[in-house]
Amino acid sequence: MVWSSNAKGNFCSAEAFDAIRKKGTTVWWHKHVWATATHPRISGIAWKLIHNRVPVDTTLQKRGIQLASMCCLCGKEVESLNHLLWHCNRAKDLWSWLCHLFGCNYDFEDLEQAFAKGNNFSSLIKDLWNVGVLAIMAEIWKGRNKRLFEEISFDAYSCSYKVRWWLRAAGKLSKGTPRIHSTDGAILRKLGVNASIPAAPRIRPCKWIPPDFGFIKLNCDGAAKGNPGPAGVGVVYRDDHGNVIGALSMGMGATTSFCAECEAIMQGVEWALRNNWTMLWVETDSVAACHSFGKNQVPWHMITRWNLAIKGLQRLIISSTWREVNFAADCMANHGVSLPSGCIQAFVGRPSLLNKVEDPHYVYYRFD
Ligand SMILES: [Zn+2]
Repeated sequence: MVWSSNAKGNFCSAEAFDAIRKKGTTVWWHKHVWATATHPRISGIAWKLIHNRVPVDTTLQKRGIQLASMCCLCGKEVESLNHLLWHCNRAKDLWSWLCHLFGCNYDFEDLEQAFAKGNNFSSLIKDLWNVGVLAIMAEIWKGRNKRLFEEISFDAYSCSYKVRWWLRAAGKLSKGTPRIHSTDGAILRKLGVNASIPAAPRIRPCKWIPPDFGFIKLNCDGAAKGNPGPAGVGVVYRDDHGNVIGALSMGMGATTSFCAECEAIMQGVEWALRNNWTMLWVETDSVAACHSFGKNQVPWHMITRWNLAIKGLQRLIISSTWREVNFAADCMANHGVSLPSGCIQAFVGRPSLLNKVEDPHYVYYRFD
């Protein structure tokens, strides 16, 4: 018996939950609200506010509760969520203060426009801006409740103090990086956020190594446009002199990138066998696929095919490499994405679409 929701065929309760849970429609703001930099307390309140799941006067009136409505912050207008968060003069003071901190113009009137302001910032400042927006919304809501139920007057200063606290927490949680030559330093000083300077990229040399005499080397790659999304596989076959002796592309339809990587290895070995190549060195840029084939834990739907294939082989080596020295296979995989599902195009010799292959005499560089 196999559990088909998992590539390995094993049952796992997290996947069972995922399979039976109801999935709602995706909302555009979910990545802003459930971000790493946003403290869960702020996310929780913001989620309720954006969904309009809060008892403001206009919502209560709609549900048939008779009440005379007045915004308890400004005492001038009817209390709707839109007024409270975006149009109330007390809220506007806070928004204008936030814009001043980030050195931008205050010209937004709703959430979408407010988030859009962050698009010009570096990844770190954008994270902080998003948290600033959500924290102001949350603090306005908390301030409104304190005014209404505890009769503590709304104090913009204490609100801004708390927003600063959430911003400093966001500075620690964010994985973003500031821009070196920019106003980021000044913004961070104003916010009181200590940002770590991004580490210099590590430069690592890497080479494509030809196989030993008698071996055929298969460089395999799977490409998925989205996970899952339309996918393709690509394989390039090379001899011990580094000559391309064959290549193949296959369309896969919608699947995950892991399945595409595994299918690339599977197809690669099967087509090698059809050519009577039985001493193979399989190289993939997916560490996960390399592990699963290396430990003989292939995805369950491939087990029979795989066992049959390895019976025909004399020698098999599987290793993983970096994508910087697997670009020829990547090119074939991208071609595969454009093919219909299940359609295989195999080439003897080097196909014309492969305009660049890894040079064994050349050192490539990886930056990470
Ligand atoms: Zn008001």
